[in-house]
Amino acid sequence: MPPLHSMSLDELSKLLSEEGEKPFRAKQIFHWIYERKVIEWDQMSDLNKSLRSKLKEKLSLSSLVQKNIQESNDEETTKFLWELSDGELVESVLICSKQRRTVCVSSQVGCPARCSFCASGKQGLLRNLNPAEIFEQVYQIDRFLHQKGERVSHVVFMGMGEPFENYDNVLQAIRLLNEPSRLNISQRRMTVSTVGVIEGIRRFMKEDLNVSLVLSLHAPNQHIRKKIIPYARKYPLEDLIAAMTAFARESRRNITYEYTLIAGINDLPEHAHELGVLLKGQPCTVNLIPYNPVPGLKLKRPEKETIENFRTILSSYDIVATWRYTKGKDIAAACGQLAMQNKLSLAPS
Ligand code: SF4
Repeated sequence: MPPLHSMSLDELSKLLSEEGEKPFRAKQIFHWIYERKVIEWDQMSDLNKSLRSKLKEKLSLSSLVQKNIQESNDEETTKFLWELSDGELVESVLICSKQRRTVCVSSQVGCPARCSFCASGKQGLLRNLNPAEIFEQVYQIDRFLHQKGERVSHVVFMGMGEPFENYDNVLQAIRLLNEPSRLNISQRRMTVSTVGVIEGIRRFMKEDLNVSLVLSLHAPNQHIRKKIIPYARKYPLEDLIAAMTAFARESRRNITYEYTLIAGINDLPEHAHELGVLLKGQPCTVNLIPYNPVPGLKLKRPEKETIENFRTILSSYDIVATWRYTKGKDIAAACGQLAMQNKLSLAPS
């Protein structure tokens, strides 16, 4: 059954006309779903019973089943585990700060990039998510917030998967999220994060979009990058930085680099100096992210002093570096961890 979430208002009006119904019913249905957050046809009380039965057979209102929800001790991070119609699992994270309600969405089941420090990468790619499945992660969390009188304000594509390896579906999901008759989330409040797929960066640069782009850099040189990000073998660091610089020029935006600090791997003072030389003069910000340990991996999070020292060295190269405490540490909030844990606990012993 086709998902209603990826159907336009015009397409729904047309379908209703074919069923002998007045096209204005399409707006009524959108109002129920996107304003009142109703996902049961039977609750749409101003639609007659026979129309509700017909629609039930023709359109699916939901393709995600909530399997698990975990809230961090600080109540700032909530992790959702969803089961898809084929039984696969994906996750999304809600991060609450004073002014923002940010949802981190998954774009694939598993991930082809196989970064050595990541739970999602361990599985490899299982499949791409379709636009409705990506959109619905945000929609369902918006419903969750609706009960508290809140709504999703920002979306980041930083969950399971490499967004540019599912380019067309991610782009369509961005447009669905941005549609005024749906969630109406501003493009300026959306961010796509790539591990460095150069064709994707070049294509994204030409889109008529106002969405931010972040590069997961994670290393000061090609040698270390290749060790922790297998994709780096295909996309040399020099070409990647050139592609990001071109993106910044075209979009007139600052570049953001994410740098996950892993103890003893990429967090030494010489790494900070090397990164400083690499990025000096660029209009960029570096987000330093202390590694969130993944069960089964021996990698460690650096001490606070190491992170602070790394940041200070970058500042000496006039590079703005921020570092944030990884929220939701107690709920396995690094991408892919919850899905992984559930897979393990669901697996036959
Ligand atoms: S860190 Fe991101 S790109 Fe790398 S394997 Fe994990 S999900 Fe994929």
